Amino acid sequence: MIKSTPHWVITKTFPFYLSKFAGTHVNKLEVCEIFYSLQGESSYMGRPCIFIRLSGCNLRCSYCDTKYSYAEGEFRTLASILSEIEQYPCKLVELTGGEPLWQNDSIPLMHLLLEQGYTVLLETNGSLYLEDVPQAVIKIVDVKCPGSGCPDSFMLWNLKCLEPQDELKFVLTNYADYVFARDFLQVHKLTDRTIHFSPVTSVLPPEILAEWLLKDGLKVKLSLQLHKLLNLR
Ligand code: SF4
Repeated sequence: MIKSTPHWVITKTFPFYLSKFAGTHVNKLEVCEIFYSLQGESSYMGRPCIFIRLSGCNLRCSYCDTKYSYAEGEFRTLASILSEIEQYPCKLVELTGGEPLWQNDSIPLMHLLLEQGYTVLLETNGSLYLEDVPQAVIKIVDVKCPGSGCPDSFMLWNLKCLEPQDELKFVLTNYADYVFARDFLQVHKLTDRTIHFSPVTSVLPPEILAEWLLKDGLKVKLSLQLHKLLNLR
């Protein structure tokens, strides 16, 4: 099958998984921040989780709340990242951004974390190929709605790369976004997957979204950002 790539999405080719932590090639990642908090935006919501936020993103969503991750970060070896996260009493780790897949060496990091016994979540914006993501990683994949300002950024091929444990997330700003998301689920027959509808609460009150969901009886979850409700990072 031919993969279709929206003309404005800049793609990268991932290298093969070259090193396993101790190879001659030294993998490095540009890290924005590493912190420990509660997971707030998936089926893992409420679980203590270590977050590795990588720098850089290929999109510019209108509602982005992590614009600070666009800036240059600190280049870190995988060894130093692993050493830092080992201080936390937790084996759940999430790669987030920015866009984690924008950096090639995020793939070796995922392999390494899995080897070290971590449960690995990947928050990704859906515009970059998921083919090289290790199968055991739990992917939480955005499908950008029109209100994001990045319409058509979703890589449709990625639907073929989803494993049963993977989840899709639609961030909604208005009714047009809701209709887009509802139709997307119907067109692509995504009824058996965990789906999150997450309102941008400054422009779409959750109770309004709740009314729409109840009216249509959609098999999706209304997701609020728990970490923000609790004033956590
Ligand atoms: S994909 Fe995420 S990090 Fe990138 S601009 Fe959109 S909201 Fe921000």
